[in-house]
Amino acid sequence: MSASRMLTDDGTLFIVAAPSGAGKSTLVNALLGCEPAISLSVSHTTRPPRSGEEYGRHYYFVERAEFEREIAEGIFLEHAEVHGNLYGTSHTTVAGLLAQGRDVLLEIDWQGARQIRQSKPDCVSVFILPPSRPELERRLRGRGSDSAEVIERRLHNSREEISHAHEFDYIIVNDRFEDALGDLQAIVHAVRQRAALQCRRYENLIAELLG
Ligand code: 5GP
Repeated sequence: MSASRMLTDDGTLFIVAAPSGAGKSTLVNALLGCEPAISLSVSHTTRPPRSGEEYGRHYYFVERAEFEREIAEGIFLEHAEVHGNLYGTSHTTVAGLLAQGRDVLLEIDWQGARQIRQSKPDCVSVFILPPSRPELERRLRGRGSDSAEVIERRLHNSREEISHAHEFDYIIVNDRFEDALGDLQAIVHAVRQRAALQCRRYENLIAELLG
């Protein structure tokens, strides 16, 4: 009998949160580049698209009335108001990917993370911190895609986001990008070797070794 993985196991749900400007999206994109078995869940939002953002790839951009109707219909696994806009993760997006055995990554805020932890306690949550306040400001202002008003609001809101860092399973300080990416990969790799998952994957091997 071979020790190959059974392909029927469900994937793991990863959550990555951070204050705006911590470098979360760059880190997540780099992680997805090196870990093809992870899929990013595409969220719904009422935020207008930034230049270069595409419907269905970066977000499902919807009007507030439509989003509110979708909340009432119960399509969201979690949803929250962040920086004055509504954001949400749909049940079908996540369930479809997990059922294919794929790991799924949610890039969401602390409020959404809290809701997911309640409904999916097996999820693994990671919080990204910037190395300092001045560096957070520098990164936010240097992005060039947001108005001054939006930047000020995001800077102001970063304190609240950071005040929830302790609720997460892991915290990574994104000082040197390569180090932070290595830390994030180390978490993903460790999670995939958890005994509860491995016992399911290698049930036949363990039975054979015991027999
Ligand atoms: P941005 O507008 O910069 O793309 O995202 C702003 C914030 O909204 C980020 O903290 C991001 O993680 C969060 N966010 C994006 N999608 C979701 C979502 O589906 N649910 C929740 N709760 N937050 C989200």
